[in-house]
Amino acid sequence: MSALSTDLVKVLQRSELGWLLAILRDRGYTVVGPTIRDAAIVLDEIASVEDLPIGMTAEEGPGGYRLLPRSDDAVFGFGVGPSTAKRWLLPTSRILWRTRLIDGTLTVLPEVAEAKPVALFGIRACDLQAVDILDRVCAGGCYADSHYVAVRERLFTVAVDCADPPSTCFCTSMGGSPAAESGFDIRLTEIAGPPHRFLVDPGSEAGSAIVDALQAALASEEDLAARASQAGQASQRITKRLDCRGLREILERNAENRTWDEAATRCFACGSCTMVCPTCFCSTTKMSSSMLTGESECERQWDSCFSEQFSFIHGGSVRESTMSRYRQWVTHKLAAWHEQFGVSGCVGCGRCIAWCPAGIDITEVASTIRRSDVAAKRPTVGKEH
Ligand code: SF4
Ligand code: SF4
Repeated sequence: MSALSTDLVKVLQRSELGWLLAILRDRGYTVVGPTIRDAAIVLDEIASVEDLPIGMTAEEGPGGYRLLPRSDDAVFGFGVGPSTAKRWLLPTSRILWRTRLIDGTLTVLPEVAEAKPVALFGIRACDLQAVDILDRVCAGGCYADSHYVAVRERLFTVAVDCADPPSTCFCTSMGGSPAAESGFDIRLTEIAGPPHRFLVDPGSEAGSAIVDALQAALASEEDLAARASQAGQASQRITKRLDCRGLREILERNAENRTWDEAATRCFACGSCTMVCPTCFCSTTKMSSSMLTGESECERQWDSCFSEQFSFIHGGSVRESTMSRYRQWVTHKLAAWHEQFGVSGCVGCGRCIAWCPAGIDITEVASTIRRSDVAAKRPTVGKEH
């Protein structure tokens, strides 16, 4: 999906934003958007515009995140929080199947992959990119996850451009940008004004149907110029970089680099980085049975490659040290993922930097390994001049 035509871009005034939510709810969508819970901006079900974090922002840095009031009443004046679209596509736990004794025969009862239509309201460009990556993992090939596919087919996305990306963000290094360019049903751009308004831009047939239903004026040349200018300024604010040139090969030949040990001395192996990452998909299964009903069930739960049990195979873990688990996470994200899924496993959202209690920064680790890449410094024997 991509933006269809700037001819269809409409303008909602700040007081009219609720119209869009109302249409989505009328069409049967459960609307999920950013809202404040436990001192963070998370994605959760919202009923109205008032549930959004109006006039709030989040200050983010390595190992730090805190909410602060803004000096204006921007509705989307913050970066990404700790929750992501994956919570709706890949729930934290899900029953895969049950067994029951029926007439003396053990019968397997597969869970039916039912999904209610969900509209993700206000997700960012990096999260759309992450959903595209999850599609490759969970819906591509011959081992598609039926529940994921069921939710994904009914998913509606309302993306919001980032006007003020946090310092932890490096999406522009990972092929992204603060402004959503594709993958959305509707794109919103908040322009603080005056007047305070939202440009509403369809990116799919489903999005066009909803934008058509909005009783709103078409965007003017001035509106579109303001959007382009805001997008350019937001890109310029992103100063964090991850140099991806040859990074896959560099990481693959630096399995013994001491940078891994240095990172591991700080790492708690808590797995927080994997929980907040929009593309991490590792899971485990838990089996249980009831003596009362005679039923057994198999439940899939989120897991992390940072847990020692995750790589436990008949008698021991193949990654016993924190170093080996940290190295596995980074090299999978930035190197092996390319081979498995044809893309990097990182979209540069910066969540793992802000939500790491030790403040470990994946871009700094990768750049330290690049600087200390022994192979790159080795003189080439017989090189012609
Ligand atoms: S590895 Fe970190 S920066 Fe990259 S997508 Fe995951 S959480 Fe975001
Ligand atoms: S890198 Fe940070 S967030 Fe990830 S497991 Fe280590 S301490 Fe936890």
